[in-house]
Amino acid sequence: MAENIKQKIEDLRTELHQHNYSYYIEDAAIISDFEFDVKLKELQELEKDHPEFYDDNSPTLRVGGAVTKNFPTVRHQFRMYSLDNSYNFEDLEDWEKRIIKTIDDPVEFVAELKYDGASISVLYENGKLTEGVTRGDGFSGDEITANVRTISEIPLTLKGDYPERFFMRGEIFLTRKNFDKINKRREEEGLDLFMNPRNTASGSLKMQDSAEVRKRGLTAVLYQYIADETPAETHWELLEKARSWGFKVSAQAKLCSSLAEVKEFITYWDEHRHELPFEIDGIVLKVNSIRQQAKLGYTAKSPRWAMAYKFKAEKVETELKTVTYQVGRTGAITPVANLKPVLLAGTTVKRATLHNEDIIKKLGLHEHDFVYVEKGGEIIPKIVGVNLEKRNPENREIKYITHCPECGTELIKTADQAVHFCPNDLHCPPQVVGRMIHYVSRKALNIENLGSETIEQLYREKLVENPADLYALTKSQLLPLERMAERSAQNIIDGIEKSKEIPFEKVLFGIGIKHVGETVAKKLAKNFESFEELQHATVEQLIQIEDIGGKIAESIVLFFQNPENLLMLERLKSYGVQVERGESTEKLLSTKLENRTFLFTGKLSLFTREAAEDMVEKHGGRNISAVSANLNYLVVGEKAGSKLKKAKDLGSIEILDEQQFLDLIG
Ligand code: AMP
Ligand code: ZN
Repeated sequence: MAENIKQKIEDLRTELHQHNYSYYIEDAAIISDFEFDVKLKELQELEKDHPEFYDDNSPTLRVGGAVTKNFPTVRHQFRMYSLDNSYNFEDLEDWEKRIIKTIDDPVEFVAELKYDGASISVLYENGKLTEGVTRGDGFSGDEITANVRTISEIPLTLKGDYPERFFMRGEIFLTRKNFDKINKRREEEGLDLFMNPRNTASGSLKMQDSAEVRKRGLTAVLYQYIADETPAETHWELLEKARSWGFKVSAQAKLCSSLAEVKEFITYWDEHRHELPFEIDGIVLKVNSIRQQAKLGYTAKSPRWAMAYKFKAEKVETELKTVTYQVGRTGAITPVANLKPVLLAGTTVKRATLHNEDIIKKLGLHEHDFVYVEKGGEIIPKIVGVNLEKRNPENREIKYITHCPECGTELIKTADQAVHFCPNDLHCPPQVVGRMIHYVSRKALNIENLGSETIEQLYREKLVENPADLYALTKSQLLPLERMAERSAQNIIDGIEKSKEIPFEKVLFGIGIKHVGETVAKKLAKNFESFEELQHATVEQLIQIEDIGGKIAESIVLFFQNPENLLMLERLKSYGVQVERGESTEKLLSTKLENRTFLFTGKLSLFTREAAEDMVEKHGGRNISAVSANLNYLVVGEKAGSKLKKAKDLGSIEILDEQQFLDLIG
């Protein structure tokens, strides 16, 4: 019986690996997505019932699920070098001359796209993926194997005649389409948008929850084989072999027998790169012969046998029509340049961001100036200069606005920031909407089916102006809205109802007190039982709490001074929203430390700081962040510094080592 099940599991794994390969590497699906899912579910079920047959490389691990708290640092067996850069054909000719000095026989090159993502090193042992590591500083990187496994283009098991142990290097990146999808979702959730695909790809690789990594939709291409022994004479053959073992290798790579051919390749892709579904920032050239590569060797930073050719950021000139100002959901003002439409990097550009007042001043922008617009790595183009020759001397300098274009309130600008803000957070339309989007978002009240568009609609129809209004909504108010079906209206009402069960700490996060993020909200909810209690806290009391500084404390106090906020909280309470901590939130183990405050300092060896603070709370004590007369115990690890000294000076504080702390709680 067990043998049968084992066989069944193995067969399913082999079959699913094969389908993955057809779909992602060969771009030719053999079975439908539905059939694939059915088989995958079947395998998941079998694996769940038979954990004894667990395998690190089962196709079920593609969907993620493993959570990594800290990524271990791993030393690269073979250093991951950088590439030398060149910017024009002369640079390339110089490079070729340097090569010819060392190499007598003819030199071939492999020209490849320079993918703009994050580089990765993946180890294969006996045909199985065993480790994935980021580039890091080139000498060692972070081990992110669980996350790498979620990327479909990276095979978990190999086929054919592969070497026993080797590394594949490659690039992990996001297609433009997937990048846009992520940002669209973030917009709906009221989160800040990501700036560019590259940073998003490398950021995604470091997420703790691999199921979240999977959702990002990362892609990979492998471009380099590395091992003690090389089973071929040229880089080109290695790429072919890698392809035969099941790797996704660049489809555009080209073997060139001369520099002239290389230049042709570069010219072609400089012009056509915008037709690719992903971004490249140049071309990479590699000497084809492995023997020649070895002879050329490395400089301190990069191989002498490879060279990157960087494309110039494209720049065009166009006329500035107007400068308008957008008010973000947090009240931040962004100036936008509206341009005479112009073709740039494959798209028509009508607008460019100006970021803030300082940038406008630095450019010395005048009305109707002719400006140079550039598209770098960021999605939104920017103005990099003014063609002064074309300026009409009668045109006036651009003056920054003083009042909010949405609500007319006078703008403020804090000393430490270059950005202007509209301070009218309770009534400025985009801020009102932003606050509600935040309130319903996943990490706050998690009201499903209530997207940003619907909230905007509801606000326009004057049905809601703050989170409490949501609870008074009725289905008959929703139904007349555009594109609102019976079913979705009911879902929204149900979602709002369900949010009454969301625990206090999330409500505390959701009401949108400035500077109170998720972590701070959690800390506050541990220290204060209810909004009512928090409402009476002073700045001095608040800054006693770990992670809460003056700025946050002041913002909290300010929030509760506003009668409109108090009214909203009153209403939330009357609707049955959790405005206080439920009993279930934290089970106390004992009350041994009741009314006692603790602070940990120095390097702890018996437990982590987090665990220690947790223990304090579980026994009824409180953690505070600074040595003061309010502190009862300072627990010191190795190399305790200024805090220990201050505690001794104060004299009233009991000083414990780690063991004494454990004794205290028994
Ligand atoms: P740079 O970051 O500008 O020093 O360029 C070096 C990086 O280019 C490498 O670390 C790789 O991540 C990346 N890269 C992209 N495509 C390729 C490719 N086809 N071959 C080698 N490296 C590449
Ligand atoms: Zn405003």
